[in-house]
Amino acid sequence: MDSTFRQIPPVVLQALKADLLDGDRVALGRAITLIESKRADDRKQAGLLIDAILPKTGSSIRIGITGVPGAGKSSFIEVFGTMLTASGKRVAVLSIDPASSKSKGSILGDKTRMETLSKNELAYIRPSSSGTIPGGVASHTREAILLCEAAGYDVIIVETVGVGQSETVVKEMVDYFLLLMLAGGGDELQGIKRGIMEMADHILINKADGANPEAAKRAAKAYRNAVHLFPAHEAGWTVPVATCSALEKTGIKSVWSEIEAFRQLTAGGWFEQNRRLQRIQWFHALVRSALELNFFGKANIQEAISEKEALISARKISVRKAVQELFES
Ligand code: GDP
Repeated sequence: MDSTFRQIPPVVLQALKADLLDGDRVALGRAITLIESKRADDRKQAGLLIDAILPKTGSSIRIGITGVPGAGKSSFIEVFGTMLTASGKRVAVLSIDPASSKSKGSILGDKTRMETLSKNELAYIRPSSSGTIPGGVASHTREAILLCEAAGYDVIIVETVGVGQSETVVKEMVDYFLLLMLAGGGDELQGIKRGIMEMADHILINKADGANPEAAKRAAKAYRNAVHLFPAHEAGWTVPVATCSALEKTGIKSVWSEIEAFRQLTAGGWFEQNRRLQRIQWFHALVRSALELNFFGKANIQEAISEKEALISARKISVRKAVQELFES
């Protein structure tokens, strides 16, 4: 973090805000680094910055993209994002990986992802943040979305990088949730949890190319049948199930048409209502993590917990009593 932040904070913060609102990518990067910082003084400034840019946020479409590793998420985003920038849209890509503190670098480190898009003037790509507090990563990404919006990005793509645990987190911060799948052998519904399919606003079978188009079509049919059995979408939306190829760039345009149709269908109703609900969910999540931090940050609390563990192990105290005493101490 640039130390000038702390030397003359108000002036630097003003300049950062101005550059950010001007769409300056360096300023955006610095602002995201600031909100991810764990230093108390940075956190305070991050709060000021977010408050200051809040009126300039909210106008993008936020799209979540998930799928098993290898489904082609980054290839799809590369093609989809490039297509959007070709029509003048500014596209930001954020990745979220709640497990990043454990697996840091291992997923993203070994390949250059979205090579073309990362060189595109109208695109901004920010890899996963490395939060350590529960709820921290999600909260950072939510703030990063706001910063990208303030910087003038029209489409914000939030990609899940973690495996199997980040879907709900992403669903709760986007307007449209896209599930990328592959035509597998055998039972088409295996490999991805039903709950995740139920969350999807759009299911796309990727890699419908080479010898694969027929298998992809069959998979799409099977998923379409499965989707019919799910509870109806809250917004009255019919979840599209389609095939595409990020490699051959087919089936990509219609994804955007569907998103536009969804936006139209939900504008002035479900869309805003969902965002309101998401803000409330975010608030509750932060209250919970603040409570946890506050409690576990108390002096000698770890010691007290170890003492209670010993007493519980030796059956000298009930679990209920141990908890009561911890909170009373
Ligand atoms: P991610 O882990 O979901 O981000 O997947 P990647 O985008 O890294 O893709 C995984 C592999 O699948 C890479 O080797 C890609 O080149 C390949 N791939 C991605 N999309 C397609 C596609 O549409 N068709 C084919 N044949 N291969 C693809």
